[in-house]
Amino acid sequence: MKNTHLSAIPLPKIAIDDSYWNRYIQLIPSVALPYQWAILNDKVPDAPPSSCLRNFRIAAGEEQGERKGVVFQDSDVAKWLEAVAYSLSFRPNAELEATADDVIALLGRAQCEDGYLNTYFTLVENGVRWKNLTEGHELYVAGHFIEAAVAYYEVTGKRRLLDIMCRNADLICRVFGPGENQLHGYPGHSEIELALVRLYHATGTRRYLELAKYFVDMHGQSPNYFLEEMKRPDFKQIFPEFSDYSPVYSQSHIPVREQHTAEGHAVRAVYLYCAMADLAQEYDDEALLKACRDLWDNIVTKRMYITGSIGSSRFWERFTVDYDLPNTSNYSETCASIGLARFSLRMARILRDASYIDVVERALYNTIRSGISMEGNTYFYVNPLEVWPKRCLEDTSDAHVKPVRQKWFDVACCPTNVARTFTALGQYTYSSDCDNLFVNLFIQNETDCVLGEKPVHLSLKTDFPRTGKISLSVNGENVPFQLYLRIPNYAENWSVCVNGQPASGTLEKGFYCINRVWNCDTVTLQFDLVPHFVFANPCVHADSGKLALVRGPEVYCLEETDNGKELTSVFVSGNAQITEQWDGELLGGTMLLHFDGFRLFDESGAANSVCTKQPVLKPVKLTAVPYGSWGNRSKGEMLVWMHALLQ
Ligand SMILES: [Zn+2]
Repeated sequence: MKNTHLSAIPLPKIAIDDSYWNRYIQLIPSVALPYQWAILNDKVPDAPPSSCLRNFRIAAGEEQGERKGVVFQDSDVAKWLEAVAYSLSFRPNAELEATADDVIALLGRAQCEDGYLNTYFTLVENGVRWKNLTEGHELYVAGHFIEAAVAYYEVTGKRRLLDIMCRNADLICRVFGPGENQLHGYPGHSEIELALVRLYHATGTRRYLELAKYFVDMHGQSPNYFLEEMKRPDFKQIFPEFSDYSPVYSQSHIPVREQHTAEGHAVRAVYLYCAMADLAQEYDDEALLKACRDLWDNIVTKRMYITGSIGSSRFWERFTVDYDLPNTSNYSETCASIGLARFSLRMARILRDASYIDVVERALYNTIRSGISMEGNTYFYVNPLEVWPKRCLEDTSDAHVKPVRQKWFDVACCPTNVARTFTALGQYTYSSDCDNLFVNLFIQNETDCVLGEKPVHLSLKTDFPRTGKISLSVNGENVPFQLYLRIPNYAENWSVCVNGQPASGTLEKGFYCINRVWNCDTVTLQFDLVPHFVFANPCVHADSGKLALVRGPEVYCLEETDNGKELTSVFVSGNAQITEQWDGELLGGTMLLHFDGFRLFDESGAANSVCTKQPVLKPVKLTAVPYGSWGNRSKGEMLVWMHALLQ
């Protein structure tokens, strides 16, 4: 491992103005954050009640009543604050900032004398703490507030929330650890580990990093903390379905350095892996990094959907076995894709390898984008690859699948998670240290950074993914640094020029590296985005004999609106000609893909579930749209994997 660590360019230094992403980035401050604020205050009719802010007012002694919501309800406020912080970096809003300051002041008033902050255990459990790490999410909630505190401090310079959460983290540092009088527990839902690393980076306080390491290292130690905790006479179960708890659910079945396949609850897993990657870098821990590489490889090659989502089973919202990727009953939670993108970004920075960014991009452009409507006020929680709306019935294996985006959820982790992800998109775009600049994503922006201790202005122009033309203008004075341009795995016929002349760089782990002294120079990267079919491995039971359509980072799907009902009766040849059509109006501007296919018809006319004679294939014209845009027109069927005509 190299000694210099790559990191993001500070968010306030990056101004994104991108034809593909503007809609989403602007939607968050203009629609999603005000909408979510109304939700958190129970002011949206017909949406599940949140009670989030009310809970804090009750905890502060400013309102009477019963605390409502799930055990981790507080975390919705944390992620909302984190998203507000990021949004203020590109769209200052005094009113929104004042509202956030008021919320932060309320958190301060709701905080206990010793730094504890959690409305559930303060109000519902009368201050009984740390007795149910298996299900209680106390450390998870604290983690989200720590992330919000770091974000708010970094963008606004205000310390109030940071101070609140340092007091909270200091309490947790006193309570947990290897000492004789400390608890030897760790979180049942990872999140605080990666947050403590962020807090360490923001404050320089090393005990936060050490506690993150302690929590990660404690996973899987014998005897299992959670199984022991559940045996205690004062253990009070919160979720009845946890009565047959298995440590694999929380990745505590074996020590982390021995984990080589992704197991258990998908969100918990990738949040833990983020922290493992952080710690592998901080401590130069090769064994931990090896585990991270193996876990990532296992996910990406055998347990990840083509849309960049994870979690094949709704039960336990978990990973199952290699090649188990059902299309209709999967969980594929939006939060899990966000966690996967964050884990992949960390791995890309540690290993300086573009293949990790391919996955970041796959998750962002498909599942995470699908998680929010193009209007900004409805959301998907689970992200299936095939939807038959009629079948989404209660008390069935598809009961969790919603054919249309929802106003809110009883468990509402995803909407605020999407908000904080899209407002922080600039953090994914570049990686840098003092001598190197990595261009990860092709998102149009103007950025100020420091390279070789000198100021540099970057201007990246592109209409990606409509085309694969990217122009990066570097403006500095005799600045020596290495520029790494990502060549994505789908790029065909790519070329790189500097000031119009073919560049003489080298390809290093998927990045085209140009080492020179920069002044006012323009680098252009050009590649073809060729739409094509990909075939499922026959080992994938749900998709054997099927193909899917991809173009660049985007996976395409068929929608009923364009192609009629019974989409599973569609057959397509892998050699079918695909025609591109840019539509500047539809779905905010999108590349449609047209191709010829076939449909199975039952000509008997009996309409029985068993045909009286062999169905026939008839030619049909098909139109596919990007998966990230699905469900934005009318309620209907959707399909990613189509039957292949293999000849
Ligand atoms: Zn979620």
